[in-house]
Parts: sequence; C-alpha cells; structure tokens
Amino acid sequence: MRFSKAYIPTTKEAPKDAQLPSHIYLARAGFVSQVAAGLYNFLPLGKRVLRKIENIINEEMEAAGAQEVDLSFVTPAELWEESGRIEKFGKELLRFRDRKENLFVLGPTHEEMMVNIVRNRVSSYKQLPLNLYQIKTKFRDEARPRFGLMRGREFVMKDGYSFHSSIEDLDREFDAMEASYKRILERLGLNFRIVEADSGAIGGTGSKELMVLAQSGEDTLAVCDSCEYGANVEAARRAPRSIIPEAPNADFARFRTPAIQSIEDLSNFFHVDPYYTLKAVVKRAVYIEGSELVCFFLRGCDELQEVKARNSVGAIDLVDATEEELREIGLVPGFIGPLDQEKIRIVMDNDTKNGTNMICGANEEDYHFVGVDLSVMSEAHFADLVSVQEGDRCPHCNGKIIHTKGIEVGHIFKLGTVYSAPLKAEYLDENGRSQPFIMGTYGMGVSRLVAAVIEQNHDEKGCIWTIATAPYLVNIMVSNIKEESHMAYAEELYTTLQKNGIEAILDDRKERFGFKISDAELIGFPFTVIVGKELDNGSVQIMVRRTREIVTVDAAEVLTKIKELCQ
Ligand code: ATP
Ligand code: MG
Repeated sequence: MRFSKAYIPTTKEAPKDAQLPSHIYLARAGFVSQVAAGLYNFLPLGKRVLRKIENIINEEMEAAGAQEVDLSFVTPAELWEESGRIEKFGKELLRFRDRKENLFVLGPTHEEMMVNIVRNRVSSYKQLPLNLYQIKTKFRDEARPRFGLMRGREFVMKDGYSFHSSIEDLDREFDAMEASYKRILERLGLNFRIVEADSGAIGGTGSKELMVLAQSGEDTLAVCDSCEYGANVEAARRAPRSIIPEAPNADFARFRTPAIQSIEDLSNFFHVDPYYTLKAVVKRAVYIEGSELVCFFLRGCDELQEVKARNSVGAIDLVDATEEELREIGLVPGFIGPLDQEKIRIVMDNDTKNGTNMICGANEEDYHFVGVDLSVMSEAHFADLVSVQEGDRCPHCNGKIIHTKGIEVGHIFKLGTVYSAPLKAEYLDENGRSQPFIMGTYGMGVSRLVAAVIEQNHDEKGCIWTIATAPYLVNIMVSNIKEESHMAYAEELYTTLQKNGIEAILDDRKERFGFKISDAELIGFPFTVIVGKELDNGSVQIMVRRTREIVTVDAAEVLTKIKELCQ
C-alpha cells in the first residue's frame, strides 16, 4: 500500500469522552471512527488488524477440529423465551418487530441459535462430539458503553459451542479449547493469564477467563506470586488462615456499646482483633421478579465480595440498602446481629461457621453481644462471601496472593445441559435413551482484542502493534520524495519485502519528515525504514517502534535485519 493512496485519517484530536489509550490512539490514528455511543466503524487499518486476529483464531480452531458456521444475526424472540433468557438478559437485548409483528432480538450471544441448529438434526451419540463456531457481530445494549472498542454495543465475538454425550468428553474438549485459546493469545504476542471465573447466573460447572494484563483492565485478579493459581476476584478462593489472632475471653453477655459506628470502633472499644467481630452488610437483592433485603454476615476483618453474595441468593443484582429501609423493617443500623433474627433473610460467610468468642450486634440501639458462640447458627445458610485480599494465602500452594488488573478477552464455560434441557435438544445414547446434549461454550472478544493489544502496548506517542497484529509490519518512509534515487530505492525495497511475504506500506507522501514520523509513531508500525541522506553512503535507518531506538543498517541488508528484529 502506498500511503499517498491509503485512507488513513490521522488526527491530533482525541474523542471527547476518551480516557483510555486504546480509545484515543485507535481513533486518532485512523483505525476506527465512532458512529454513536458504543458503535464504531472499522477503517482500513482497523479492518486489517481485525482480520489478522480473526485469521489466527480460524487457524487455531481448524487445528482443533472446530467447524466454522455463520448464523443469522437477527434471532427469533421465541428461542429466547424457550430458554428463559429473554427476562434474564433484560435491557441488553435489543428487541424489535418486523412488518408482520413478529418479535426478534439482535444476537448478543448465540447459545439458543446454536442449540436450535443441531436439535432434531444431530440425533445420535455417534454424531458427537461436535464443535461449531463463528466470528460474528454481536449486539448488547450495554448500560454504559465506554472505552471505545473495549465495551461497545455492537462488537465482534468469536463464539463457539460444543456438544457431547458425556461429561468426560466435555472436560476433554474444554481443556483442548483452553490450550487453543492460550496459543491464540501467545501468537498475538500478548501477556495474559488464564484465571478461574465466576459461573454466574448461567450456572454450569466450570468457567475460566482469559485476561490480558493491563492497568486499565476492568477486572481485578487475585493471582499467586509463586504458582499458576489465578482467579477473578469474583471467584477467588483462599487457603484457611494459618495464624489465628488471640481470642478475647468473655462469657456470653449483652454489653452497652454507645455510638459504635464501625468495625474499627468496635474492635478498639473491646481491644479485640476485628477477626472476632461480626460484620453485617445489608443489600437489596433484585430478582427477575421482585426484590428483598438480605443481610450478609462475615468476620469484621473480611470484605464482602458482591458477585459471590449475589450468587449466594440467586439474585440478578444487589443494591445498597438505605438506613430508612433498615429501620422500616425494625433493624438498627450499626447493631445488626444474627441471633434471633427473623426480620430479614440471612446469609453467613463460611468462615464464620462455628466461630467462638465473637462479638455481634444485639439488634438494639447501642448494644452488642460478646462471647457469642456461632455454633447456634449451624442451621443458617452458609456460603463463600469473602473478597480475597492481597496478602491472603493461595489455596493451592499457600503462596502470597497479589492483585492485578486484567481485560477479559475470552471466557470458556462448561454449560452442561443448561440450554439443551429447556430447549429440548436431545440425542439418543448407546442404550437408545433420549438425553440432552452436554455443552461447552467458548467466547473470545475479537474487537475487544484490538483494543487490548494497545492497552498493553502503547507509549506517549501512540500505538505499538505486536508483530502478529500490526496492520503493516514495515513502513518505508522516504524523507524527501523529490530525491529520485531515494524513491527508486524505496520502491525496490517495497517490492522485495512484499515478495518475501512482509507486509509493507510506502510513505510516499509529500509531507515534512516530522509529520510523517509522528504519524508512524502514532499508528505504531513495528518498524519504519527511514530512507534519507545516508543512502548516498549506502545505508538506511530502521526505527524500532517499541523502543524508538534507531539502528543504521546497510541498505542491502534491510530484509535480513527486519527478519532478525522479528525474532
Ligand atoms: P463483560 O464482563 O466484560 O461484560 P461478558 O462476561 O458479558 O463480558 P461474555 O458474554 O462471556 O462476556 O462474552 C464473551 C467475550 O466477548 C468476552 O470475554 C469479551 O471479551 C467480549 N465482550 C463481551 N461484551 C463485550 C462488549 N460490550 N464489547 C466488546 N467485547 C465484549
Ligand atoms: Mg457483559
């Protein structure tokens, strides 16, 4: 491609609402342009990057025996009613009617559609397993589309679905897909981590997320500093505490604790470690139909993990409860305890089970109980509710947990029969019995990956593409296009590179050197060959974008040098 002919509208102006480097640079460097909130056009450079990522995904899926399909983007609402997801998905589903008043939704993901194409067609265990995938536009009417391609409303996803006749076979495919996804991200040149994830409202038995490590990531990960263990904090576990603080000794009693507002006040007041206090967090749990107040109890030294809390009651959302709401049902904020508590639904954290020497609210203004033995609560609803903190111990090796930020670029999930059962997608097993398909699902955010590459690889000048994702690997920049011998050299190099399978762009624009070099840095080609005065002495310079280092090479050795630099 010749730069003078290319449509690469670079600009100094960043989009008004842009905060993230990828959002700013992809727009400024002319990879994408915004249409409306969460809607983007891919311009030629952006499309090239997208295509490269898609090609790598396709190659790895082919190698893994998955077959590509392309399902209709517009999907009948009946399918969503059959699976029961039309309510669960809520407002993210864009619904509309056609001229005959039939209701449709724009596909936000394709489980229902994929189940629908195999049901009644795949009828025997002999036709299994099957892994079908597509790379396709998705639409989710996200509440807060933001950060450019990172969280769009319209975006490109690779979504794959596998069908099996046994759990063991699903496990095998799940591991194979994990390995394929790992290879894809390695080939893309990304620094990533595969972590245990929350299975959420969809249910299922196993779920992992692929996280590109970047400061701007929306997800917090708990990772072990000495082994491979990593989990989204929404699903992170920890080893039991090895050092238990010294227990306060007190007989059970009701104690006056005036003006105590917090766990800190409480532990100072009694001179006890917060470990021995019981924290109450009241939330309004929102369900598909209705809502209720729920009180979550955990040790005072621990923090509530909202996703775990939400899952423990099967809610679709948790919202903070106000003081008025608490008082309305007769609870006393600051003094809520679990004993003889009938006013509100209770969930207790697993680590409070059979706790002794505890201090908890007495459900009366200015009073706490001390010397509480929580074994009286043994019939309560227990669940893992804690947010794993830095410094906690790894559940696998007892190493130290640290937190880091990640961008979720993929999610693989053992679904089991959660879709096939309600949609009655069944096959006949070896004994001639009808069974719902056992399924897995494997998603990857293709357009989000374009942004993730830049979140992980940029500097104050612009984008830094990895070798596999660069729109062009080499930019040949002629300082002064009026120098005929320089242009002739550049043309020849351009041809040579292409003949050798190296994608190159020739910056033959009649612009100042400074202007062209800042475009090159903003766009982020891995290598820019600068053809200037040195050519008269037989050499040219190569600017390595990642380091901005400039190396002088023999004009005849450029191809060799580029190949060497790619290693
Ligand atoms: P998130 O938690 O970021 O909303 P999700 O859990 O809703 O993601 P999935 O339903 O698992 O995502 O979709 C599979 C993949 O599609 C995600 O891992 C992510 O990379 C990508 N993805 C999801 N929502 C968006 C979006 N709004 N814009 C761009 N990519 C997205
Ligand atoms: Mg989402």
